[in-house]
Amino acid sequence: MIKTKKQGLLIVLSGPSGSGKNTVCDELKRENPNIWESISMTSRKPRKGEIDGESYYFVTADEFEENVRKDKMLEHAIFAGNYYGTPRESVQKHLDNGEDVILVIEIQGALQIKKKLPQALFVFLLPPSMKELKRRLVDRHTESKEKVMERFSTAYKEINELSKYNYVIVNDKVEDAVSKLEAIIKAEKCRVDRIEEVFLDSPEEKIHESLVDKDLENKPVDMNNLK
Ligand code: 5GP
Repeated sequence: MIKTKKQGLLIVLSGPSGSGKNTVCDELKRENPNIWESISMTSRKPRKGEIDGESYYFVTADEFEENVRKDKMLEHAIFAGNYYGTPRESVQKHLDNGEDVILVIEIQGALQIKKKLPQALFVFLLPPSMKELKRRLVDRHTESKEKVMERFSTAYKEINELSKYNYVIVNDKVEDAVSKLEAIIKAEKCRVDRIEEVFLDSPEEKIHESLVDKDLENKPVDMNNLK
C-alpha cells in the first residue's frame, strides 16, 4: 500500500576518535549486509594492517587537493594535520541503486553534508566517559603520545557540537549501541517524508480516500457510499 523512496538512506556516524565508531559500524554491516560503507580518502600514512582501497584510499596531500579542485569530494576536512574526505561518485551510485550508505566521518565533514543533504540521518556516538575515551586512545597504541593528546582535546570540541546531530548513542556495550542504531535506522525509514505514494485500492483503503475527499469534508461519512 505504501511505496517508499527508491533512493537509499544516507547515514552519517560521527563521534570522537576512540568512541568506537568503526567497531559499531563493522558490527552494523555484519548484521545488515545491505548497508554499504563509503571508503574515504586520506593523506594520513597507513597504520600497520591498513590496506589501500579497503581501509582508506591513501594519497599524498597534493593528490587529495587535486581531487578537491576537481570537485570529486562530497565533503572533506583536515583532522589532526591530515586530509580526510568522502569520494562523491561511489556514494551517489549506491544511493541511486536504493542501497543505504554509511559514512563514518568527523564532525566538520558531517556538517558540510548536513548543508548539502539535510535529509540524511546524523548520529553521534559518545564514549561512556572521558576517562574511558582516554584509556581507549592510549591502549590502541596507534598514535604517538602527542597525537593521542591532540585527538583527546579535539574530542571535547566535537562533543560540544552534539546538538547539530539528530540522535546520540552512548557506546558502553557495542551490541547495545548497534541495536540502538538499527532501531534509529528503522524509524527513519518510516518517516512520512520518505513515502512517495500511497495506493488506495481496496474498499477499506477507500474509507481513507473518502475521509480526505474535499467534498466530504465536514460532512458525516455515509458508510454505504464506501462500498
Ligand atoms: P583515523 O585517522 O583515526 O582513521 O581518522 C580520524 C578521524 O577522521 C576519525 O574521526 C574518522 O571518523 C574521520 N574520517 C575518516 N574518514 C573521513 C572522511 O571521509 N571525512 C571526514 N570528514 N572525516 C573522516
